[in-house]
Amino acid sequence: MILIDGKKEAANLREELKKEVSQLKTKYNKVPGLTVILIGDFTPSQIYVRNKEKSAKEVGLKSEVIKYPDRVEETTILNKIHELNKDETVSGILVQLPLPRHINKKKVIEAIIPEKDVDGFHPMNVGNLSSGYESSVPCTPLGCYLLIKKVEPNLSGKKAVVIGRSNLNGKPMTQLLLKENCTVTITHSKTKDLKGECLKGDIVVAAVGIPELVKGDWIKKDSIVIDVGINKTEKGIVGDVAFDEVSKIAKAITPVPGGVGPMTIACLLKNTIECFKRSQS
Ligand code: NAD
Repeated sequence: MILIDGKKEAANLREELKKEVSQLKTKYNKVPGLTVILIGDFTPSQIYVRNKEKSAKEVGLKSEVIKYPDRVEETTILNKIHELNKDETVSGILVQLPLPRHINKKKVIEAIIPEKDVDGFHPMNVGNLSSGYESSVPCTPLGCYLLIKKVEPNLSGKKAVVIGRSNLNGKPMTQLLLKENCTVTITHSKTKDLKGECLKGDIVVAAVGIPELVKGDWIKKDSIVIDVGINKTEKGIVGDVAFDEVSKIAKAITPVPGGVGPMTIACLLKNTIECFKRSQS
């Protein structure tokens, strides 16, 4: 069984990105810039943003965090985004979610120009991804995709089962696997025979948010299992996959923590660099 080491893969990716940033600096005499907008004092968001800033600096990006109090007006945020859209030193803009209730998420996502949308949430990028065109891809599914490709470079003809249909994870994951010529089944809370569907998968990606939903007898021998879930339980953080059972059956599996999680921020840095490169061409 292959234990997919997301920490190691993310460190390797960051190392590659660091080299790339240094080459871009030589070529263009400037470096890609990432600006993160953080609203409020929700602790997990503060931790994510701190980690994003730290990683961005480590690979040599210009990194900036703009903080607003919880009660900031929506127009203030939209005006700041418009300003950043025009700022040539900013390659990527990210507004940390979740937002306070009085701020319209859709308006905020759509205010960021698609060229600087490093989260890949803008409808233009969603459309480009599903049309098979170049686009920013949401960071977590991009990380899952890179991990799967490490284990199995040729995915053509494989059966993939994605559990969860969120815009953040399930849907973009499906598009990435389709692009690789997988036959993809997307499942969700209303799926009738989830176990039966999972058993058909050469690849199973679980992005649900239910602790250890996927059991050992749901998984085909020699499948690749990617666990996106992060669930707080009495026994600590666990994924959406019952790791102890499934790791006895699968060919390869990501642990939680230490699997998909570390890849997410590395992919954000990758997206920022891609946005920069597209803006220079
Ligand atoms: P979400 O709540 O937006 O979507 C969950 C999806 O699961 C929905 O499409 C729903 O239909 C489906 N679902 C719910 N119950 C189900 C069931 N019983 N059977 C089958 N499908 C069911 O969640 P999300 O934002 O996509 O996040 C999913 C999980 O991934 C969460 O645990 C979240 O914390 C984690 N997450 C991890 C990372 C990371 O970096 N590793 C990033 C984002 C989210």
